[in-house]
Amino acid sequence: DPINFVKFYHYIIDRFEMTIEQGISFVRDLPNEAIYVAIDQDKITQVLDNIISNAIKYSPEGGIITFSIAQHTHEIVVSIKDQGMGIPKSNLAKIFERFYRVDKARTRKLGGTGLGLAIAKEIIEAHDGRIWADSQEGKGTTIYFTLPIESENDDEWE
Ligand code: ATP
Ligand code: MG
Repeated sequence: DPINFVKFYHYIIDRFEMTIEQGISFVRDLPNEAIYVAIDQDKITQVLDNIISNAIKYSPEGGIITFSIAQHTHEIVVSIKDQGMGIPKSNLAKIFERFYRVDKARTRKLGGTGLGLAIAKEIIEAHDGRIWADSQEGKGTTIYFTLPIESENDDEWE
């Protein structure tokens, strides 16, 4: 059954906000109204956990992480934006591949296997959504994913 995605997203952000260190702050740019989306909650939790832990992992001291939802007719676009080191343009598509990690020397000390975003992509595609990244080196990264929403006016004749 569809769940209120806004409430679900708040809950996940709350859970991370209680544990963040290193002077990182969270900003929420979320609608006040409920948005009902049919999802596997455990799976989408796994997606968000990875994206948010990456954002924290690659954020500088004092960095701001911004959480947004944009609502369109047939889908929502969920985004997580950080002010971290960014990802070079040439590597941007590859971060969703299994075991791919940008600049192993740079990221080794931060830990991880390079599987998080590959798993996230599988899960989002299984929900008929899309996932992509936008990044500027030295400025930060935004990860976006979509989830389809059933508009109440949709019927089989359209
Ligand atoms: P795991 O998620 O398995 O613990 P990981 O975090 O290294 O390991 P992914 O989450 O798949 O793996 O990310 C792949 C790579 O993409 C990372 O190693 C990192 O180089 C880059 N990356 C991901 N998110 C960010 C981000 N927010 N800022 C900068 N680089 C990122
Ligand atoms: Mg990760």
